[in-house]
Amino acid sequence: MKVNSKPVIAIAGAGIGGLTTAACLLKRGFPVRIYEQSRVLAEVGAGIQSSANAVKVLYDLGLRDELDKFAVRPKRFEFLRYNTAELMHSIPLAQVHEQRNGAPYFHLHRADLHELLAKTVLGMDPDCITLGAQATGFEESAGGVTLHLADGGRPKADVLVGADGIRSAIRTQILGAVPVRYTGDVAWRAVIPVERLPQGIMDTVSAVWCGPKKHAVMYYLRSGRVLNFVGLVEHDQPEGESWTQKRPWEDLKADFEGWHPTIQIVIDAIDRDGCYRYALNDRTPVGGWSTQRVTLLGDAAHPTLPYLASGAAMAIEDAAVFARCMDSYDSIEEALRVYQDSRVERTARVVRESAGNRDLYRIEDEQEMRRAFEAMNMSKTRSEWLYSYDPLTVPLGV
Ligand SMILES: Cc1cc2nc3c(=O)[nH]c(=O)nc-3n(C[C@H](O)[C@H](O)[C@H](O)COP(=O)(O)OP(=O)(O)OC[C@H]3O[C@@H](n4cnc5c(N)ncnc54)[C@H](O)[C@@H]3O)c2cc1C
Repeated sequence: MKVNSKPVIAIAGAGIGGLTTAACLLKRGFPVRIYEQSRVLAEVGAGIQSSANAVKVLYDLGLRDELDKFAVRPKRFEFLRYNTAELMHSIPLAQVHEQRNGAPYFHLHRADLHELLAKTVLGMDPDCITLGAQATGFEESAGGVTLHLADGGRPKADVLVGADGIRSAIRTQILGAVPVRYTGDVAWRAVIPVERLPQGIMDTVSAVWCGPKKHAVMYYLRSGRVLNFVGLVEHDQPEGESWTQKRPWEDLKADFEGWHPTIQIVIDAIDRDGCYRYALNDRTPVGGWSTQRVTLLGDAAHPTLPYLASGAAMAIEDAAVFARCMDSYDSIEEALRVYQDSRVERTARVVRESAGNRDLYRIEDEQEMRRAFEAMNMSKTRSEWLYSYDPLTVPLGV
């Protein structure tokens, strides 16, 4: 027997994970309230790659036409040697990706995707999002869950979802105060208007430049009007860095000294005041994210390094599977358990394989790198297990 009236669901965090969850739940008729710590609803100016497994969810939310207004459809992944631009490996995307996996592969601007999701949520319920609401913990009982907010607010709900990112307060209460681990990498990010670059400097691809101790990723955003640059560099542990911390352009330039002229042209075109750098942290994958009424989602549950470009895709998948579970099970506790069982193994694999790519992209010897790429046959394997997954139809609980 299904629950008669739909339970009220509170979500901590209005990132891509929290907003997608709210949209999936609202679409199914659940009352939802999001509590976001920021006073402004926004995302940083950077790119995000979204493969078919995530795009299926966005399409199911009715966002196909809106996405088409700004999404870039890359032709392929190209893995290039850092100093010679020699092609080490490629993975076809475009039509091949869509035919194999049931939806396109997109390059999106984070702010555009975030804004679209927020608009979708607010279109279904204009009062859904409370800003300036920092979650600090919760209290749960047989009768419900109370979210604790830093300003003393105590909103009540039937279910609480912690979608509050890698340093989640909800996670801390469920799994204990385990500090994040610095991975040894910092990530530079910058976006460059294409008119500053020589025409045709790069084809419409996702270019991963691979070199010793660092790699760089470049792709177009906003219908090709902007180039996204990310530089992942081994570095002593930096202090107090956030996603919005600026660093001197000269440091970025020095980090990629000796790299291919294409990389130099791109770095030279970056605003001197437009270089952001932050520390990449991670956590060991674990289960046990759910209590009787509270669960975790996205980076709060399974923070994922960007080396498979799939962290947000996992949050989007979580959202769809969570909403299906809430709709399919008699008891809240059972729904949360089945949601967790559905997601633990897959997300742990993505976390592990993302981390593994760090080593692959940095193999010092060129021939060894080429052999490693060939042995992995990523074109086949990524479609088989990663991109073809359908969170809207996958059997629940397995
Ligand atoms: C350099 C880089 C490149 C990446 N590229 C890709 C990519 O191409 N493709 C991809 O799929 N993934 C990518 N990722 C991963 C992706 O960015 C994350 O996995 C994704 O943003 C996680 O979304 P989330 O909503 O779970 O968490 P977050 O984006 O961290 O959102 C959490 C939200 O919760 C709020 N919050 C935090 N604490 C509280 C609190 N206590 N109370 C209330 N609100 C709170 C925050 O303000 C924020 O709005 C990349 C990551 C990095 C670092």
